[in-house]
Amino acid sequence: MVRKVSIFGSTGSIGCNTVDLILRHPDSYDVVVLTGGRNVTLLAQQAKATGAGLAVTAFEDCYDPLAEALEGSGIEIAAGPDALIEAADRPADWIMSAIVGAAGLAPGLHALRHGTTLALANKESLVTAGPLMLFEAKKHGATIIPVDSEHSAIFQALVGEDINAVERIVITASGGAFRDWSLDRLKTATLEQASNHPNWDMGQRITIDSASLFNKAMELIETKEFFGVHPDQIEAVIHPQSLVHALVGFTDGGLMAHLGPPDMRHAIGYALHWPDRRHVPVDRLDLVQIGQLEFRAADPDRYPALALSRFVMQTGGLSGAAFNGAKEAALNAFIAGNIGFLEMARVVEGVLEQIDAENGHNSAMITLDNVVQMDHLARNSAAEIIRKIAR
Ligand code: NAD
Ligand code: MG
Repeated sequence: MVRKVSIFGSTGSIGCNTVDLILRHPDSYDVVVLTGGRNVTLLAQQAKATGAGLAVTAFEDCYDPLAEALEGSGIEIAAGPDALIEAADRPADWIMSAIVGAAGLAPGLHALRHGTTLALANKESLVTAGPLMLFEAKKHGATIIPVDSEHSAIFQALVGEDINAVERIVITASGGAFRDWSLDRLKTATLEQASNHPNWDMGQRITIDSASLFNKAMELIETKEFFGVHPDQIEAVIHPQSLVHALVGFTDGGLMAHLGPPDMRHAIGYALHWPDRRHVPVDRLDLVQIGQLEFRAADPDRYPALALSRFVMQTGGLSGAAFNGAKEAALNAFIAGNIGFLEMARVVEGVLEQIDAENGHNSAMITLDNVVQMDHLARNSAAEIIRKIAR
């Protein structure tokens, strides 16, 4: 059976890996939509290679270059955020949500409203609007399959299990680029140093978030939202090899670990073939060669992002949207060279405190409009704090 598939964020790290898997079995898939950002040359290449029906760039000023690159191909083109939403309304059996940042939320939500199977890599969707995503999925008979490696691992460990028999969930963190750095040295970390991940090859933003453990902080929140377990049941441990992705502990003391190479094509392939398992071209682990697996506690002083995620998990409401908006603004400021590496957490903490004191995080319902509003509020508040720090 030929399946209709769409890939949002096809030109990114997750997107390219998804295209790679699809192109290995071109006769099995009918590609409906591909979307990208400013890299229109790659988007056009992918659209031609997959025979996509529609190629969308998120940026209106990229329309002309995309049109030029696809001239004569017969592939439909569109540009801008509204075009992304329209593209998400095109029927498909399987949709990959791999846009980076809060911009990925709206297209994913629209896709769910058509009862599709949504492979969810965009972690900001669950962090900012977890309850809304699950509500829409349930209402429209849609299925969400997590693609973040840790959450794919938990999902797989839970197949055939009762969630009520789960005692705890442990997700692992490689520790990123700076896992062996002292607190003092972390203060001096540069953009270039933070952009090099020891194990995974990913987009720049998530790579920096891995070094600060903001990525792990997001994943703790994702775990709480998606699997519905209490924050006290979720923990993160440092595991430098990135071979064990997550573990699920049950009431009888059993602990189910998921192992695999640090290659996102495993989690993407699992989501693509679910509920079946098919061949996925990733390396097979040689346990004897690996020899040892190492685990250690994450130091709260060096990784303040973890405590901030605890606050969000306990507070709920729109605190995830505030956390994410502040984090994205702080990350932009770090990339621009306006604040230091450790100051990113100071910005997010300051924003959460300010919003807590002024409006609270829990008063408004989690709707798309309210999430967007909270996102703006958090970014504005972050901008103020960043200005003070940069001065
Ligand atoms: P990336 O930066 O490599 O790619 C992002 C994609 O989104 C690109 O196609 C880009 O053109 C598009 N994009 C950027 N800004 C946009 C905007 N404003 N509107 C619409 N599209 C836009 O990112 P990535 O590393 O592939 O990550 C994608 C998502 O998956 C993120 O949420 C990330 O946290 C998550 N994730 C990634 C990995 C990984 O291994 N890379 C693992 C787990 C989860
Ligand atoms: Mg992950």
